[in-house]
Amino acid sequence: MQVHITQELVNIIIHHSRVCYPLEACGLIAGTVEGDNKIIQKVFPLHNAEQSRVHFGFAPKEHNNAVKEIRALNMSPLGIFHSHPDSPAKPTEEEVDHSLDPTASYLILSLKTTTPVLKSFHVDKKTRIVEEEELVVEPLKDNS
Ligand SMILES: [Zn+2]
Repeated sequence: MQVHITQELVNIIIHHSRVCYPLEACGLIAGTVEGDNKIIQKVFPLHNAEQSRVHFGFAPKEHNNAVKEIRALNMSPLGIFHSHPDSPAKPTEEEVDHSLDPTASYLILSLKTTTPVLKSFHVDKKTRIVEEEELVVEPLKDNS
């Protein structure tokens, strides 16, 4: 499975994560699945209801509204993104325990380094297998 995202959407994730720093930032990703490719078309930055530097949680109402908007746009929910303010872009043991959907992509942005690092993972709670997915970032369009 390859995950495709545009640099514009990556920038939204980085911006939201920096605004939330030092707390974790989180949100949903949505788009389409075409064969072996997930095409992310929209990201939904959400409020971290846990207000924590090491955890995140969605506020149920805000989460539901985003899911409704995804359906209204005829997109599919593709997974979630969240930030690791001070640790590497890798799911924690706890996140593996709490992962719900084995078809979802878990995007993690690490702000530990000066240049943020974004990675995508596939997490299977039953087998505890965490696999990094290939993330293809489409460059910004040149408008000049
Ligand atoms: Zn995390």
